Amino acid sequence: MRYSQLFLPTLRDVPSEAEVISHQYMLRAGMIRRLASGIYSFLPVGLRALRKVEKAIREEMDRAGAQEVFLPSVQPAELWEETGRWDRMGEELLRFKDRHQRNFCYGPTHEEVITDLVRREVRSYRDLPMNLYQIQTKFRDEIRPRFGLMRGREFSMKDAYSFDQDEEGAEKSYWLMFEAYKRIFARMGLEFRPVEAETGNIGGAFSHEFMVLADSGEDSLVYCTSCDYAANVEKAEIRGPEHLPQAESPGGETKAELRLVETRGKRTVEEVTRFLGVDPSRLVKSLVYRTDKGDFAVLVRGNREANEYKIKKVLDVDTAVLASPEEVEEILGVPAGYVGPVGMPLSILADHEIRAMEDVVVGANKEDHHYLHFDPVRDLKGARFADVRVAAKGDPCPRCGKRMEERRGIEVGHVFMLGTKYSEALRATYLDQAGKERPIWMGCYGIGVGRTLAAAIEQNHDRDGICFPFPIAPFTVILTALQPTDAKIRTVSEGLYAALRQRGVEVLFDDRDERPGRKFKDADLIGIPLRVTVGPRQLQDGNIEVKLRREAKAAAVPVEGGMDHILGILQDHGETRGQSSF
Ligand code: ATP
Ligand code: MG
Repeated sequence: MRYSQLFLPTLRDVPSEAEVISHQYMLRAGMIRRLASGIYSFLPVGLRALRKVEKAIREEMDRAGAQEVFLPSVQPAELWEETGRWDRMGEELLRFKDRHQRNFCYGPTHEEVITDLVRREVRSYRDLPMNLYQIQTKFRDEIRPRFGLMRGREFSMKDAYSFDQDEEGAEKSYWLMFEAYKRIFARMGLEFRPVEAETGNIGGAFSHEFMVLADSGEDSLVYCTSCDYAANVEKAEIRGPEHLPQAESPGGETKAELRLVETRGKRTVEEVTRFLGVDPSRLVKSLVYRTDKGDFAVLVRGNREANEYKIKKVLDVDTAVLASPEEVEEILGVPAGYVGPVGMPLSILADHEIRAMEDVVVGANKEDHHYLHFDPVRDLKGARFADVRVAAKGDPCPRCGKRMEERRGIEVGHVFMLGTKYSEALRATYLDQAGKERPIWMGCYGIGVGRTLAAAIEQNHDRDGICFPFPIAPFTVILTALQPTDAKIRTVSEGLYAALRQRGVEVLFDDRDERPGRKFKDADLIGIPLRVTVGPRQLQDGNIEVKLRREAKAAAVPVEGGMDHILGILQDHGETRGQSSF
């Protein structure tokens, strides 16, 4: 491809709409443009990179025995009503009507559609196992679309669905996908980690997310420094105090009596603890959660966060939402900042860490007052203790008890063991060997294609632009002709361009009549991994210049041996297969 003919509008300045690096560079490198909030167009260079991500995904999915299909993005409401998700999905589901006033949605995911297809076609155990995947546009009306492709509303996803006879088969399919995902992200050169995860709207028995490690990630994960436990903080369990050696579990030792103190106007944990001169870790905060089984008081340490997923699981409820300050006042007759366990009319669920604490500060259930010297063991009779807080750095690993570390991550993939949730709702069954009808066991497996590209850029860039790993680079080589109007430079660079294309190398030929500085800046911004420069100075000595994007120094290479040298570098980087050129 000739740069002079390529639709590649680069930008010198950082667009104000972009917060994270990947979004900034994708706009600046002319890869994408915004049409509406969370909705993007791909320009040629962006599309080429996206196709590379798709290629890596396709090859590994095919290798794992999955078959590609293509399902409709517009889906009839009836299917979603059968699984109950038409109502449960909430505002994220983009619903609309056709001219006959029938309800439809734009697919945010495809469990319903694929299960419908399979229930119509699969009859017998002989048709199983089967794994079907597609790469399709999804729409989710996200509350807060942001970070460009990272959290769009319209986005491309690879989603796969496995169908098996029984649990054992389904688990085998699950781990096959798990391994395929590891290969997909590894071959793109990403630093990533699979972690145990919550199942969210999709549901199912268990799941893992694949996290690309990056400080700009919206997710947090913890991992054990000693064993291989790793989980999203939404999910991560925390070992309880019952595992602590006796000496470290000092509850029940507060000698002092409860003492009521005035804390006028101090509502937040910071305000109260600063006023009383204690550390926030010595306060227990009392939160009110509204659930479909009534209201509950939830107690966590002052420097901790309550975890809604865990609360839901412990209470065995479908919804658990933190009550607003107005609701708290309405329910308890006390302003939110002063709620406490003493005289609490609601059932109390306390984080298990609290059982190991002594002599703490709590709200007094009385406006402008707190209690000192609260002892959880002595004063918290009848409360239920469980793991209900968000895991964080330093917490004990649920497996081995050693310290956990915390990192930010970008969720690029998610695998779910669905079991028979969808096949039972949609009655997708097969006949087993004995002729008995059984529900099909399912798994589902997603990868955000655009998000993976964005995550790759978060991990691979410098202050001048993107540093694409070879496997997902839009072009492998950028051939830069300085002073392309010069006859000799034109001859040499055109010759190299033709030779590279002939060898199937994906080459972008910067034949523009621009200043060298501009050309080098654009090349660095776009991030093509190998740059070959034909310039007057080098050519005087019979040389061209070859430079890797990630390296500072260029090598002078004689024109005659140029092609071999370039092909050698590409080979060193695994670029041996003949690829289509244009
Ligand atoms: P998140 O928690 O980030 O909202 P999710 O858990 O709802 O994502 P899944 O249903 O697991 O997403 O979808 C599978 C994959 O699709 C995700 O792992 C992610 O890579 C991608 N994905 C999901 N939502 C978006 C989005 N709004 N924009 C881009 N990619 C997305
Ligand atoms: Mg997910």
